[in-house]
Amino acid sequence: IKKIITIDGPSGSGKGTITQLVAQKLNWHILDSGALYRVLGLAAQRHGIAFSEVATVAELARNMDLQFRINDENGEVEPILEGENLAPFVRTDEAGQAASQVAVIAEVREALLARQRDFYQSPGLVADGRDMGTIVFPDAPAKIFLTASAECRAERRFNQLKNKGVNANMRALLDSIKARDERDQTRSVAPLVPAEGAFVVDSSNLTISEVLTQVLEFASK
Ligand code: C5P
Repeated sequence: IKKIITIDGPSGSGKGTITQLVAQKLNWHILDSGALYRVLGLAAQRHGIAFSEVATVAELARNMDLQFRINDENGEVEPILEGENLAPFVRTDEAGQAASQVAVIAEVREALLARQRDFYQSPGLVADGRDMGTIVFPDAPAKIFLTASAECRAERRFNQLKNKGVNANMRALLDSIKARDERDQTRSVAPLVPAEGAFVVDSSNLTISEVLTQVLEFASK
């Protein structure tokens, strides 16, 4: 069987951090599927393709010239689209918004399946996203669903921004998180739900290292 750990959950649940730590610990590869949707959203904008042109966006998803490269200096994964390093743009809120708009297109999700599955490589893969355990890797032997209360996720985001010198509005962050949850959970394609057999971890009152321990313990069973 393939060595795959899927980590799904809403944004701000700590998936990215936990994925990196699990992969480091096991020396496995990482799939950051959100980055694929983010790059696709940016690519569509750059090519002047409206998100409503679903067939054209899907064609772009199939054919875009995208590689991921590891930066030797800081170890970060950089998406290279048509030769351009998009690292400075992928984590922005604008890219997140664009991602969530292309992500509702069924044809796009279908087109990205093969690209995502190609990330599987020996000795193993930790796959971070929304539908890793339900759709992309349904046969994965260990599935995690990482969640946290909306208030808690808003607070984490608030602190992240504060560290970057940005003074955000807590109320606005909370509203935005709730709106994104609602959209992600109720959309008709690949709604965000725990996969069958997933180990659900609520990180609201846990430290990163407590979550990591629980995840590694579950995955080693
Ligand atoms: O995880 P991240 O915030 O980078 O994802 C950006 C957006 O891409 C999400 O809000 C979601 O709409 C979409 N996404 C998805 N399926 C995935 C990963 C991300 O629909 N597997």
